[in-house]
Amino acid sequence: KPEQLRAWDNAHVWHPFTAMQAYEQEQAPIITSAEGFELIDFEGNRYLDGISSLWCNVHGHRVPEIDAAIKAQVDRVSHSTLLGLSSEPSIELARRLVERAPAGLTRVFYSDSGATAVEAALKMAFQYHRQKGNKPEQRDLFCTVGNAYHGDTIGSVSVGSMELFHRVYGPLLFRTLSCPSPQTLRRPVGFTAEGYREFCFAEVERIVAENASRLAAFIIEPLVQGAAGILVHPPGYLRHVREVTRRHGVPLIADEVAVGFGRTGTLFACEQEDVSPDLMCLAKGLTGGYLPVAATLATDEIYSAFLGDPSEGRTFFHGHTFTGNPLGCAAGLASLELFERNKVLQNVASNSLKLRERLSVLDSHPHVAQIRQKGIMVGVELVRDRETLTSFPSERRTGHQVTLAARRRGVIVRPLGDVAVLMPAPAMPGELIDRLCDVFLESIDEATLES
Ligand code: PLP
Repeated sequence: KPEQLRAWDNAHVWHPFTAMQAYEQEQAPIITSAEGFELIDFEGNRYLDGISSLWCNVHGHRVPEIDAAIKAQVDRVSHSTLLGLSSEPSIELARRLVERAPAGLTRVFYSDSGATAVEAALKMAFQYHRQKGNKPEQRDLFCTVGNAYHGDTIGSVSVGSMELFHRVYGPLLFRTLSCPSPQTLRRPVGFTAEGYREFCFAEVERIVAENASRLAAFIIEPLVQGAAGILVHPPGYLRHVREVTRRHGVPLIADEVAVGFGRTGTLFACEQEDVSPDLMCLAKGLTGGYLPVAATLATDEIYSAFLGDPSEGRTFFHGHTFTGNPLGCAAGLASLELFERNKVLQNVASNSLKLRERLSVLDSHPHVAQIRQKGIMVGVELVRDRETLTSFPSERRTGHQVTLAARRRGVIVRPLGDVAVLMPAPAMPGELIDRLCDVFLESIDEATLES
């Protein structure tokens, strides 16, 4: 039977962001069930979920409280619509999110993935300027940070800068300004680390000041650029971006899709620099990683620009069939409750220390250029030569070899190019973090061994 399923998988399922020819040869596990932090495949093999099912699982799989909340909601209603109607779980979840979000965010607009939460934020920001007060403005430019990833829809791709994913869609994208990504490893020649940091801070000021009257918004992944390889921003960068954008009257969109829900140590990453954005995008961990619900939070200032006589067309013309799905919202409420009850953020703090200690042996590894970590987000950049930062040949797929080596040892990880990544669930117990580290370290050794 597994062979038959695999054949049908290869014949009919088109996997996301996947080189399909290579996939077909790889015999990927077909997951049929899960228990706690382990996934179980069709053949009964168990895998520790080291990437929390693409960075979204928070409390583990088959969590009784979340399962019960979804089942109870199934017994009431699985879906209706937020168009002209409302639903109890979507109201309750909005209230809870506003309570926990940075100050000033009072409105919750639901969608269904990180990309759509970003898309909604971009359209809101654009439309806000066209309608605010009695002095409408035409602001048609967005500013982003180099190396950004904000999703795969055309708007979110336009404000992203991942060359490999985005190049092919170039002709479809709108123009976006970009501030240099304040990373330390691959900075331009001629800069010291400190000099480059200062340059990046100054560029934010220059670019925003020069274009303020045309900027619809500035969008940023707070504290960590995830998909670019877990690039951790220097302390104060987010606060600086907020200060500059506020001074120049440019709305700030915080894309907390990857960093939200505990990954960096606080429920939302913005809290760590005491930043209140004008719009905030949430997805992934919002439902504990159970169901596709996302949200764009907005301030009263943004929201109130959409109020007025309906004949003026001030409606936000956006929304999906499954916007605010009650099953997903019920899961989200149960997940938020578990955060408190199980003291998940304390667990993140101790696992963050454990990861730092356990992975410090890589400091002297001949093929490790940099270990980057914020909370429980970890990226280990693998290179052929750590002195010259020479990469491994791309056809060697070294990062991918780490995944295969880990899978043979019963652990699921997923690289970003040649950056080996760990992204355990915020609630994963410490002893499983130890097992994850054991396998991760062995797999890096195996994958970087040169014959
Ligand atoms: N924004 C950020 C910062 C992300 O990391 C991602 C996905 O990794 C997205 C947006 C897109 O989210 P989704 O894949 O749910 O559309």
